[in-house]
Amino acid sequence: MTVLVKPQALPDVKVREFKMLIDGKWVEGVETGTIDRVAPSHGVTVSRYKSATKDDVHRAIAAARGAFDHGPWPRMTAAERSNILLKAADMISVRAEELAYLDAIEAGKPITQVRSEIAGSVDIWRYAAALARDLHGESYNTLGDGMMGVVLREAIGVVSIITPWNFPFLIVSQKLPFALAAGCTAVVKPSELTSGSTLVLGEILMEAGVPAGVVNILVGMGADVGASMTSHPDVDMISFTGSTGVGRLTMANAAQTLKKVSLELGGKNPQIVFPDANLDEFVDAAVFGAYFNAGECCNAGSRLIVHRDIAGDVTARIASLSEKVKVGDPLDPSTQVGAIITPQHLQKIQGYVSGAAKSGATVAHGGSQIDFGFGQYMAPTVLADVKPEMAVAKEEVFGPVLSVLMFETTEDAIRIANSVDYGLSAGVWSRDFDTCMTIGRRVRAGTIWMNTFMDGAAELPFGGYRQSGLGRELGRHAVEDYTETKTLNMHIGRRTGWWMPR
Ligand code: NAD
Repeated sequence: MTVLVKPQALPDVKVREFKMLIDGKWVEGVETGTIDRVAPSHGVTVSRYKSATKDDVHRAIAAARGAFDHGPWPRMTAAERSNILLKAADMISVRAEELAYLDAIEAGKPITQVRSEIAGSVDIWRYAAALARDLHGESYNTLGDGMMGVVLREAIGVVSIITPWNFPFLIVSQKLPFALAAGCTAVVKPSELTSGSTLVLGEILMEAGVPAGVVNILVGMGADVGASMTSHPDVDMISFTGSTGVGRLTMANAAQTLKKVSLELGGKNPQIVFPDANLDEFVDAAVFGAYFNAGECCNAGSRLIVHRDIAGDVTARIASLSEKVKVGDPLDPSTQVGAIITPQHLQKIQGYVSGAAKSGATVAHGGSQIDFGFGQYMAPTVLADVKPEMAVAKEEVFGPVLSVLMFETTEDAIRIANSVDYGLSAGVWSRDFDTCMTIGRRVRAGTIWMNTFMDGAAELPFGGYRQSGLGRELGRHAVEDYTETKTLNMHIGRRTGWWMPR
């Protein structure tokens, strides 16, 4: 059983129409194509975006290039840029409910959860505004009487920002304010499934005083619009969040002109639990970690690596708590798990569950889709008796599916945790300091949570080891990512050279 929150039909919903933002103007684009977004929760069209072509990409990149090479933005003082970012943060707060509705209805995310994502995004915009004023280089007055060195940080230039559908507003907020803080200009492409909130952000930025051409926003398919944005010679850097497969393509495209690349990719994140852990807290965090955002989360704690002595008890408690999770209407404030992004993705998730069952895993809870008559939903699912070599234990399922694996020794747990291609995040649960620190040091992942899961803050860097990505977002170095380093090497006094007499 699962607690169901049946969505109300939306027969008279108004379709919201969006244009694209190029050089400070809202335009239709070179061709008249549109992309319709059908709400995954309700099965009706809710948004219609103008679809960009390669010509629109060229225009947007030309606008960003012009705004960087000749415009005021990179030449403003950091305080001026910072004030505009702070104004944008305030305006995001004012339009928070509109933004939350768009992400909830386009992505199927629970409205209560999205409200906190928008509040978290406001915090990140403010943090980036503060960092803008602290961006500085280094000086060396230690190179001898005749020499001084100054190391400058300069904005890198035009950045292509490409984002996925699972956290539409939060992820663009982990990139764009830092690029702007550094003085860069940008062309942004949100996922074609969830572009609404990023386009509203465009309105906010124009109103906050970001000059024309500094931020351009295009909607379109990855294979043409995204690919053009990653290969165009006038782009200096790519900041991409999405799947590991597309991340690989992005890097290959960028290689043609040796662009700087920042990649935030997939994960297959383990939570390792020892018998001495606070199991009440762990069970709660396991259920949260696996079902948050319907498991459509790069950080999902999709692999539980449980000590053999407690595996039966823990699995039973997780299955029992899974029954209480509220699944259904994303617009209902009590919902914890919303809809699955597309029918095709639901099929993929179900394929992993049936494949695991065929390979010998046991379905301890859930396992099937939930039918409300429209939209697509999946029951929170617990798979027991999962072995590390099964596909469900190695690959990113991206659905509310939790796999329970067992270990006997700490070495076993570390080996299983590190046995996948990913290394985004991991959790360890134990009251023993040595155990936590051993796991913390030996598991190869960008974030390790100790006796907690999926917490975060703008101050803490986030990103992956191995095929989970390249580079880090957030944290105090986040603005530096969008800069180049330049050395000014200066001579003082008479220079004694090769041919000059000493
Ligand atoms: P995706 O890779 O299919 O798409 C991501 C973006 O790339 C979209 O805007 C898409 O249109 C675009 N794109 C697709 N093909 C492209 C191409 N050839 N060239 C350029 N752009 C292209 O990913 P998705 O399905 O939207 O998102 C889910 C994935 O994102 C998961 O793998 C998840 O783990 C990952 N993700 C990672 C993080 C992180 O911070 N590490 C955060 C959220 C999501």
